[in-house]
Amino acid sequence: MTAQAIPAPFMSIVVPCFNEQTVLPETARRLMSLLESLVETNVVAKESNIYFVDDGSTDDTWHIIEGLSTTSPRVHGIKLSRNRGHQNALLAGLFNAHGDVVVTIDADLQDDPDAILAMVRAYRDGSHIVYGVRKRRTLDSPFKRWTAIYYYRMLSWMGVEVVFNHADYRLMSRTAIDALREYNEINLFLRGIVPQLGFSSSIVEYDRGKRFAGESKYPLKAMLGLAAQGVTSFSTAPLRVITILGLLVSIGSCGFTAWALIARFFTHNVVPGWASTVVPIYFLGGIQLLCIGVLGEYLSKTYMETKRRPRFIVEKKIGKFHSTTPADPDRNDP
Ligand code: UDP
Ligand code: MG
Repeated sequence: MTAQAIPAPFMSIVVPCFNEQTVLPETARRLMSLLESLVETNVVAKESNIYFVDDGSTDDTWHIIEGLSTTSPRVHGIKLSRNRGHQNALLAGLFNAHGDVVVTIDADLQDDPDAILAMVRAYRDGSHIVYGVRKRRTLDSPFKRWTAIYYYRMLSWMGVEVVFNHADYRLMSRTAIDALREYNEINLFLRGIVPQLGFSSSIVEYDRGKRFAGESKYPLKAMLGLAAQGVTSFSTAPLRVITILGLLVSIGSCGFTAWALIARFFTHNVVPGWASTVVPIYFLGGIQLLCIGVLGEYLSKTYMETKRRPRFIVEKKIGKFHSTTPADPDRNDP
């Protein structure tokens, strides 16, 4: 397909924001000027716009969004009723934004906005999903870099399909977003779900910069939570590992029992040993607790899923929004 085959799409940019008052004015300025130039050069349709999703911020984020929406008709705002986390904020934006394509980007300007041009081109060349992939991780701490590498490796070993070095900077077509609506899971890990959707996809590389201002909203605890989510919502490999471990330990203990019996009945040098009694107790106790923990992890996910609680609640909206009802006059799909 050539670039001309698909006309300039109506694009929305979705920006999740959690306590981003220090970066938001600059992010808005950068995104608006980019959008204007994309409209002028006829890369995207003239009605294209930006949606800021306030994920329950406690600072001035929402007021800034309100201010931006009064000064520019391109800016829309969605305020969630409380902090629901990055993944749910992205979902709220994706499901409410108008447009033929929606690009999700972080608020802190770490994702280079200029890559959006290449993303739209890839869409016009026929991709329904375009992944923003960071070229290198030189700006990350060695800890973050190495844990990320081994985490991605572990995921692929467990059969979870993820795009290496891709976070949540991506373009999705309306068709792909509609498919995403069918995935109702509470334990949301978009990086795992999106590749599962299928459709033609491509990659756009970009340099990931430093956070423009403010602090990371992903402390180690949240990072570990998301990492665990990635495993438990896509793979049952840990449960299989438990079974294999249990099997190996059982075989080992059979061997140990046989050895003890032989020693007891056929040799004379049996000294009732403290170590041989205590070591298996600690060892087996540890393994059992670990296995119960892994089982509990899956059980808790199942428990949360069965409740079918809403993933986000919208408190307020400013601007125009996408509706799933075809009869809605506001609906503006291709
Ligand atoms: N974010 C959010 N809700 C949260 C945490 C983060 O919407 O509970 C947003 C945040 O405002 C930013 C993006 O998610 O736009 C990525 O967060 P951050 O830059 O802090 O993560 P890092 O880049 O440090 O991994
Ligand atoms: Mg960041």
